[in-house]
Amino acid sequence: MNNIVEVYKNIYKVEIPLKGNPLKYINVYVIKSEDESLIIDTGFNTDEILELTKEYMNELNIIPSKSHLYLTHLHSDHTGLINYFDKLGVEIYMPDVDAKLLKLFRERHGEHWTNIEKYAHMQGLDEDELKIEDHPGYKFRPREDFNYTSKNPGDMINIGDFEFEVIDLSGHTPGMAGLYDREKDLLFCGDHILGEITPNIQFWGFDVGDSLGTYFKNLEKVRDLNIKHLYGSHRTLIKDVNARVDELLNHHKDRLSETVDALKRGATTVRDVTKQMHWDISAKNWDEFPKSQKWFAAGEAHAHLEHLRSLGICDYEVENGILHYKLINKA
Ligand SMILES: [Zn+2]
Repeated sequence: MNNIVEVYKNIYKVEIPLKGNPLKYINVYVIKSEDESLIIDTGFNTDEILELTKEYMNELNIIPSKSHLYLTHLHSDHTGLINYFDKLGVEIYMPDVDAKLLKLFRERHGEHWTNIEKYAHMQGLDEDELKIEDHPGYKFRPREDFNYTSKNPGDMINIGDFEFEVIDLSGHTPGMAGLYDREKDLLFCGDHILGEITPNIQFWGFDVGDSLGTYFKNLEKVRDLNIKHLYGSHRTLIKDVNARVDELLNHHKDRLSETVDALKRGATTVRDVTKQMHWDISAKNWDEFPKSQKWFAAGEAHAHLEHLRSLGICDYEVENGILHYKLINKA
């Protein structure tokens, strides 16, 4: 395989293509000690990725009974092959918050996917006729239950001369967590900070609340750690981490003012606000927007609206189950 690179002594990055997905590929990482291996994330549940997984495991001499798989968060491009690793006897580590949600992915009519449908209705997406069956998270999800060992923020995972602390990087998902080696200023950050693309921040329901606010807090947390070696899950590796954090914070500041502008122009539903925002995608307009991406775009606009609401800038009213946001006029 020519897509394996040693990015740090005993840390290998394996690029796994995600065909037809705007993310393009996922960086799976393998940390080696003399006889043990720690793998980080898996790629989608597809035959092609399964074959590539067998290839890199072979090439990197990964022995299942002496290996661990750490899953940064629940998304199917990170967890799709969890059942394969579980059956091989690889011990799986995952933060509880996302593991519990991931266990709901199997059932089409279970809580997770019916919530996604409920949110789409609240966001005014009924007329887009989105089908769960076309959702990439649904199509490439793990199909069976799995065993895992809880690793939550504050817990340690040691391998070779690496001492990783699990750290809370929630925002992108309710329970995403990274692996941080304090001594080496090194962090595996999942989808928290990416080069070239901005991580998607979604509305995860009113119980989870202001996910964009949580994301900002965890961006600032990483800035305070002064990371020298950052290993993100998609696209190229970032050299100047703090500069990238500032870019991401500024990006969302611009997105928040775009959201306010849309409300000023009279948009009220999440769908209308989404249509008025600028999206870095080749589609000319909302009708041409790939259906599978409409969920992510609307979820992201919704996260911005909910952040503005948490700041007291806007509020919503519910009409026939659909949310209508309005700016709060301060006297
Ligand atoms: Zn993700």
